[in-house]
Amino acid sequence: DCDHVFEALMNTAMDVDSLDPDSVLSEKWIKEVVTRSGMKFRWTNLSTSRERTNRDVHMRPPADPSSLKPRPPVVTIMGHVDHGKTTLLDSLRKSQLVSMEAGGITQHIGAFLVQLPSGEKVTFLDTPGHAAFSSMRARGASVTDIVILVVAADDGVMNQTLESIQHAKRANVPMIVAVNKCDKLHADPQRVKRELLAHDVVCEEFGGDVQAIHVSALKGDNLRLLTEATVALAEVMELKAEPSGYVEGVIIESRTDKGKGPVTTALVQRGTLKRGCVLVAGKTWAKVRLLFDENGQAVKEAGPSCAVEVVGWKEAPSAGEVILEVESEQRAREVVTWRSSEEEQQKMEEELSAIELKQQQHLQSYRKERAEFSHLSWRKRKVALYHANKNKPLVKPSEKTQDEKLQMALIIKGDVDGSVEAILNILDSYDAQQQCELHVIHFGIGEVSESDVKLAETFAGSIYAFNVTASRAALQLAARHGVPLRLHTIIYRLVDELKDELSGKLQPLR
Ligand code: GDP
Repeated sequence: DCDHVFEALMNTAMDVDSLDPDSVLSEKWIKEVVTRSGMKFRWTNLSTSRERTNRDVHMRPPADPSSLKPRPPVVTIMGHVDHGKTTLLDSLRKSQLVSMEAGGITQHIGAFLVQLPSGEKVTFLDTPGHAAFSSMRARGASVTDIVILVVAADDGVMNQTLESIQHAKRANVPMIVAVNKCDKLHADPQRVKRELLAHDVVCEEFGGDVQAIHVSALKGDNLRLLTEATVALAEVMELKAEPSGYVEGVIIESRTDKGKGPVTTALVQRGTLKRGCVLVAGKTWAKVRLLFDENGQAVKEAGPSCAVEVVGWKEAPSAGEVILEVESEQRAREVVTWRSSEEEQQKMEEELSAIELKQQQHLQSYRKERAEFSHLSWRKRKVALYHANKNKPLVKPSEKTQDEKLQMALIIKGDVDGSVEAILNILDSYDAQQQCELHVIHFGIGEVSESDVKLAETFAGSIYAFNVTASRAALQLAARHGVPLRLHTIIYRLVDELKDELSGKLQPLR
């Protein structure tokens, strides 16, 4: 009932004008608004519609070990800029093209498969830089099994080499070192390995378990050896996955193709992806129409550790998003709707707390301004009064005539700014009563001085001091000229006495 909601809105302390009513009608938000305004509200429609969409999809529990089958390792190449990552990836890819019968055109889809003559496979991720690795890990999806650390033999360990080592260690992913550019005249692979030793990367020849392969990415030397080393490490790691059941995977690249529409590369981690599968990723879904490999060849299916281009997405999901297969298109729509409403709700919550924060800030700045203003007003008043009265002493209380108001000049002294301000604030709230008009001619911190007394004398005023003493000279001067000098240590007593004096109960001591 929109009228009710609007009424509720209008009744709340929220900044209603800044909200777009069409965008804020989420249940949570309405509840919040209504609760705040103390209104009664029936939720029937809202809650049933929510129940219908309250169904997300999640990863399946770990598979029964007996259903697990070995899978190829997924490898990320990392290293310092210009040490040869791109060249290495290109050469590895080309090594496959040569062995391929129909020389398809290799295209960048974010990953490619290298197969050894013995049949073993390795999936290489070729997302540039550390992006694949870190952005996906940031989303909680770990896709990399092994890191190949490329270090140029003529340059040695550099900044990004160290960063890569840290990434791998933090993610608990084992490394293989590719000592690159070994074809170069000044290549010094031993130096590279010694330098790595200093950073806790212990190669086999130093008694560690990190394999180091001397390669030339440019010339293609030892790339087979590098792939074999990777396969060997993968065997030790016993990488396995379940090739059956609902598909689980990760989006490793996403783009929009003019002809095909949204196209993504999916890395399958569980199950076998086939045409006709219904997938959900983030807030979008797909009915898989076509699958392509990195050579642009249509494939029928892709099992664990395989990367394939998927065509059939409604919208392009983001890289790093988790892919989950669901039973039907209807289910996919339901999940996507649910996720979108969840996100909207989160947005509402954020918006709401932003509003609250803004209100608090407003209030704070308002209080501050007011404090400054009242302070200022006193100061201004003081200056104005001082100049106005400098040359004509205030009318003494005893000289009060019928229609003239009694006037009282005041000097306030205190130990700290805070106490002086507190007294001034109390006086500020003192409604100049009929009997007496109040003029604070001076205020400040520190002990009551001779000049304070002289000033009070000039204006026939009184001195009120809080938590401070008066100098001996000041006391004597005050006594001599009959200037009221009142020293207090309790604010309310000071104020009480002041009020008494103002209301004429207390006769000035003169
Ligand atoms: P990235 O920044 O790590 O991707 O490095 P690149 O692959 O772009 O390589 C940087 C430069 O080093 C390029 O000019 C490559 O041709 C060159 N390069 C890469 N690998 C080798 C190699 O094994 N030997 C030689 N001599 N040059 C190489």
